[in-house]
This record gives sequence, C-alpha cells and structure tokens, in this order.
Amino acid sequence: MNRIIILLFCCFTLAACSPKEDSKEVKKSNQNYTMDTHSFAKPTESRIVHLDWEAELDFDKKIISGKASYLIESAKAAKEIVFDTRGLTIHKVSIQANESEELPAEFKLGEPNPHLGVPLIVNINRDVKKVNIYYTTSPDAAALQWLSAEQTAGKKQAFLFTQSQAILARSWVPTQDSPGIRFTYKAEVKAPKDMMVLMSAENPQEKSNTGIYKFEMKQAIPAYLLALSAGDLEFKSLGARSGVYAEPSMLEASAYEFAELEAMIDAAEALYGPYAWERYDLLVLPPSFPFGGMENPRLTFATPTIIAGDRSLTALVAHELAHSWSGNLVTNATWDDFWLNEGFTVYFERRIMESLYGKEYAAMLEVLGYQDLQHTLEDLSSSPEDTKLKLSLEGRDPDDGMTDIAYEKGYFFLRNLEEIVGRDKFDSFLKEYFQSNAFDVMTTEEFVVYLNEKLLNDEALQAQADIDAWIYGPGLPETNQSPRASRFEKVEEMLSAFLNEGALDTGMSANWSTHEWLHFLRKLPRELQPEQMKALDELCGFTSSGNSEILAAWFQLSIRNSYAPADAALDSFLVNVGRRKFLRPTYKALKENGKLEMAREIYARARPNYHSVSTNSMDELLGWN
Ligand SMILES: [Zn+2]
Repeated sequence: MNRIIILLFCCFTLAACSPKEDSKEVKKSNQNYTMDTHSFAKPTESRIVHLDWEAELDFDKKIISGKASYLIESAKAAKEIVFDTRGLTIHKVSIQANESEELPAEFKLGEPNPHLGVPLIVNINRDVKKVNIYYTTSPDAAALQWLSAEQTAGKKQAFLFTQSQAILARSWVPTQDSPGIRFTYKAEVKAPKDMMVLMSAENPQEKSNTGIYKFEMKQAIPAYLLALSAGDLEFKSLGARSGVYAEPSMLEASAYEFAELEAMIDAAEALYGPYAWERYDLLVLPPSFPFGGMENPRLTFATPTIIAGDRSLTALVAHELAHSWSGNLVTNATWDDFWLNEGFTVYFERRIMESLYGKEYAAMLEVLGYQDLQHTLEDLSSSPEDTKLKLSLEGRDPDDGMTDIAYEKGYFFLRNLEEIVGRDKFDSFLKEYFQSNAFDVMTTEEFVVYLNEKLLNDEALQAQADIDAWIYGPGLPETNQSPRASRFEKVEEMLSAFLNEGALDTGMSANWSTHEWLHFLRKLPRELQPEQMKALDELCGFTSSGNSEILAAWFQLSIRNSYAPADAALDSFLVNVGRRKFLRPTYKALKENGKLEMAREIYARARPNYHSVSTNSMDELLGWN
C-alpha cells in the first residue's frame, strides 16, 4: 500500500494507525513530501496517481503539443493541486469529477524560480478526480534534444530524446516532479511517419504505419523516470526478455556489444531477487547523449561511446540494469539522498560484473572507481559539504549533487559494511531491503534506522561501521582501505619499465582490457618528454583508438604535454561526443593548461551537438554566454 495514502488517512481522518506505521508516516510527511525542496508539489494535500498523456511531436518547430490528464488523490480539505512546470505554455486546464463531464478549471502560474521552473496551481474541490492540462513545450525545453538528420548516425531522419533526471521532466510534461511521488501512465504519441517512438514503458518492436504509438507503464514510477525517444530506430532481440534498439547502422554492433545482457539479468536476479519490470531493453542513442546511461525503466538509454567492439565497457549496462532495483524500485526520497540510488547501484553493478567475469575483473573496476573518487575529493576540497553522502542541495540545481561522491563514496561505504558483517549476511540484508521497500521511497535517515535494526544490531558493529563519519561527515573516513587489483600489478611493471628504461614491451599488454589501459594511462606522470609521448602513441596507438575511455584518458596527457599529433582526434572527439563525463575533464584540462582559446574555439562548433545537461556545465566551465 502506498504510504502517502496511509498518511492522508492518518492526517485527515485522524484514524488510529499502528504505532510503528504512525511514527514512520509522520517522519515521511516531514522528510519526503513537504521537504523535497526541488518540487513545488504539495503531495500531502493533493497528488497525482496516474497520467494519460496524448502528444504530438513537431520536429520542424521542435515542440511537443500535449494533453496531460492526471487522476489525482487529495485530502478532503484540499483546495488546489500544484504541478511543476518549466518553460511550458499552458493553454487550458480542465477538471473532472467523473468521466463524462469536463469543466474549465481556474488556474494560475506562480513565481518562477531559476532552478525549479514555475508552479502551476489548479483550483480543485473534494469531488475532483481528474485534472487535464493542455500545453506546448518550448523549443529549448531543457530535457529535450532535437537532433537534425545530419546529427544522427544514419543521417536520414531527425531524432529526439529526453533526459528527465534530475528535475527536467517538468520541461516536457507538467507533473509533480519529485522522486517521492509515483504514478502509472498510458500514452499515445504521434510522430512523423517512418519514425519509431519509444518510452519508458511497454514498447513496440516494429514501426507503425501511421506514426501513432500507444504505451502503457503499469508499474508506478517517479517523474524523473519518464522518458521518450523518436527516430529511425530498429529492434533486435537479445533474449527472452531483452533486446536492443538502435539506428539501423548501429544495430549489429550494438547487438554484438550487449550479447551478455540476458546473462547479466540472470546474475542480478540471483543476487538480489526477481526483476520487477518484465522486459529490459536498451536504446543506443546518438553520441550527443549527455550521460553514459539513464536507467529509464524497461528501456535503458545508453551512449554509443560504450560500443568499443570488444564488450569491455559493458559495466555501464550492469550499472543501469542494477538501477532496476536500486533507484527505480527503492527510490531516493529527495536529491539530497541521491547516494541511496547511486552508491547501491555501483555496489550492485560490481557484483554483477564479478558474477560474470570474476573477482579480479571486478577489482579493476573498484580501483578505477577509487581513483575517480580521489579526483573528485580533490576537486571538491574547497566545498567539503559536497563530499558528504547526505547532501543539502536546497536552493541549488540538484545536478550539482551528481558527483562521484554519491557513486563511489556510496560504494565504498557499502563495501565496508560487507567487510564488517560478511558477504552472506550483507547479501541477505540487501535482498530484503529491495523486497520490503519495493516501489517506495527511502530517505537517508530511514535507511540508517533500517540498517541499524536489520544488519548492525549490536553496538560493537555500529561502532565499527562508523555510519556518522561515512554519511554525515566530509571526505573518506581514515579507516577506509584503498583497494588493490592484482591484474594492475602487471600494468605497473610495464609502466616502471617504460619510465625507468624507456622500454615498452607490448607483448605484455597484448591481452589487456580497457581497464588495464586506463590504469596505465592514469598512472603515467602528468609531464612527459616529447619523445616519450611519441613512443607511447606509436607503440600503443592511443590517438587512433576507437575506445572512448582510452581516448579521453590519453587526451589528458596530450593536452598537458602539448602533443600536437593528437589535436585533430581531440577536436573530432569533442565535436562528436556529448557525454559530460568526457567533456568536463577534457575542457578542464585545456583550460588549466593555457589552451582556453582552443577550448572555446572547439566549443563554439561543438555546442550545438550537446544536450542542455552538458552545455549547462560547460558554459560555466568555459565562461560561455
Ligand atoms: Zn546510476
């Protein structure tokens, strides 16, 4: 049963709840609903439970015209329902007490806020069951990226995709955009003929003749998991309940890269219980997609930069799959609790990778993650508040909290718990955590109570776990041990032979995975001699690598050492790839090494290819107006 219903029941009828539920619900009302500072919604008064969305995609004007009809539940005394919007033009709002009669509603738009957008306040009374909002998106809607045909792999048809997390859903659907508010949805979307339309819902596997597609999402989701894409897409099955969508020219390579998907789902279920979303499909997007992946339920959105040709970057798929439990099933109540989504997911991802490829393989991912965390801690040294797991992002863009702290510090906290109680006990704990909190939200504080009750149920264990330092303290607790990976010992051998004797025995690296190469590149000194750069490039072929991770790590060195032969590859990489994880360190390295002019010149050409999530960060970094 949904907790808010219980809450409303408790608050408004003053009926007796059991003591345990009571305390939990009161806490919920304070923390999860009234305290989500990134939404205007007041779900304790009135909230959405189901969306019927009708929409038409206009690629010429780059707008979506839609009607969002919400079934709502409200407290008896509720006089209004509040939605989040951003950049939407609201044409009309109507209310319904029954299916047949639609009455015009009184509504107003509130004060705009630079991060949150504008609240849409609709007057209701106790009889209102349904609210219909007729609206149009703006051509620069923050969640939407409209790509011209030339910006796609096939260059035949335009393309559209959304990125709703963290609070961008409101820029394409008026909604209650808080991770604590879940709803089911149905949709009917009209696109130009010859396009396939997909959503985070039950999806078609073939193009329709009319350009009209119908969707249904039976499992309740928060707004940040609303997703839509349209373009020249085809489907290829990968197993009984999984498959991949991509542009035709990318389909075979994608299917090859993700051939182990079904095995990953089996491994995930063996670890932490049944997959709750029926199908798991992947959508490979054009390279401008700002993230590695987005865990849209039933349909993970993925960057094509993980298609390396050798299945070496599929940990990202394990990550997005793991979100089907951590995040999509048990959801962070607010963006201040983001580590509950990401720390658990990184832990789960590495366990999936370990199941498939063994401990030594997973250890490499752990060490690389630790290196990322060290960099992030350095970057955030002047804002230690942002290195706590529990964040306080009030008044800021929640995107500011999407750092490696949530991912990697969260991971090492859980890894530490595993170490303390032993793997068997920790696995049973996690499995029960996902099951007993399925389709519900979690705050950091509630998690701590749950953890102390179910796992750390004596004082010695609690002292050992040092929860306060991990969750509410900055940086990494001193007790944390840095991880080791035995496969990296060979890498370090080759590295010291190169640095001490100038020798590069490529026989040693013949079977290296991307991870070994990354460790090698990251461990090289920041400053190298021109002949060292030349030797590295000639023997290892970094500049001509087709692997985006290796390229991005190599550019760190080529920029610092002004290695001109890599400049053309660097230029083309930045112009074509919109993944923020690569853009940020690359532009930053240019800026810090006296190449701001070059960075800005490339950015001027590249910027039209980036999604707003990436341009927001890069504009700030490069002082772009
Ligand atoms: Zn994630």
